[in-house]
Amino acid sequence: MKFILGIDLGATLIKIGLLGKDYEIIEKRRLYTQDFKDRDSLIEVIVEEIKAILQSKKIDTKDVLGIGIGVPGPVDFKRGFVYYFPNIRGFKDTLLGEIFQRKTGIKTYIDNDTNLMGLAESRFGRGKNFKSGVYLTLGTGVGGAVFVEGRIYRGKNFTAGEIGHIPINEKGPLCNCGGKACLERYIGNRYVLAKARKVFKERGLTLEILSEMAKRKDKRAILIWKEVGRKLGIALTGIVNFFNPECIIVGGGLSEVGEVLFSEIRRTIRSRAMAPSVKGLKILKAKLKDAGVIGAALLVSISKIK
Ligand SMILES: [Zn+2]
Repeated sequence: MKFILGIDLGATLIKIGLLGKDYEIIEKRRLYTQDFKDRDSLIEVIVEEIKAILQSKKIDTKDVLGIGIGVPGPVDFKRGFVYYFPNIRGFKDTLLGEIFQRKTGIKTYIDNDTNLMGLAESRFGRGKNFKSGVYLTLGTGVGGAVFVEGRIYRGKNFTAGEIGHIPINEKGPLCNCGGKACLERYIGNRYVLAKARKVFKERGLTLEILSEMAKRKDKRAILIWKEVGRKLGIALTGIVNFFNPECIIVGGGLSEVGEVLFSEIRRTIRSRAMAPSVKGLKILKAKLKDAGVIGAALLVSISKIK
């Protein structure tokens, strides 16, 4: 039997999974990204965990099909090359795939984390009954992925799907990406939180609390979430008119607030998009708990088939 290692390397949390042939997770371990002082010690600890998992399950490296890693930044997925991570220092211009391969003796594949989560959702999650769709994740960053016929569309330089960097105004705040008035600059975690703390004049406020407040029908909290839904809906209206997807799947921390957000996204799109484009469109909350790990494993098997 062959196994696959799927790794979700996030800016906060690293999840390492051992998966079986049906992508079931046999073993999962977690590490905190900020516990490590630099790139090399971070890589070293992940490699140690991989070895420990294989040892504890008595699995030989030759029975591992490959290692897939989802990373939080733009990559050249053909070369396993990381351009940079906006939220983890030290990874600029790193041939990450090659490093893991050398240290573990196992063939390693790298892709952007949102692409891999979208891949997992399109195969096993909410997207499995649809031919085409858009996946987005609402967190510190606003990531996106485009899937068509069960495959991720990556674009010429593998950067397709950056929904968070669609500008929604002519003028507006500068964004980390070099653009301005990007969607992410309005609805990324930290901006929503900054706005909420200002409205409630409460520095200790968290997004979980803001979410709870909306569920308890707090009017000011509801207004903040509706504004997030409206801004996102405006950007998605453009996507719907341009790409005419069958479904839009929304995951990530902010999506947990649920209906107050989703109803506003739907309302905005329905009221603004071209009627034929929006007909039958489904806007759904993501389903898979370990989409990043499962998507990373899928990347390995897809790359092996090619
Ligand atoms: Zn941007």
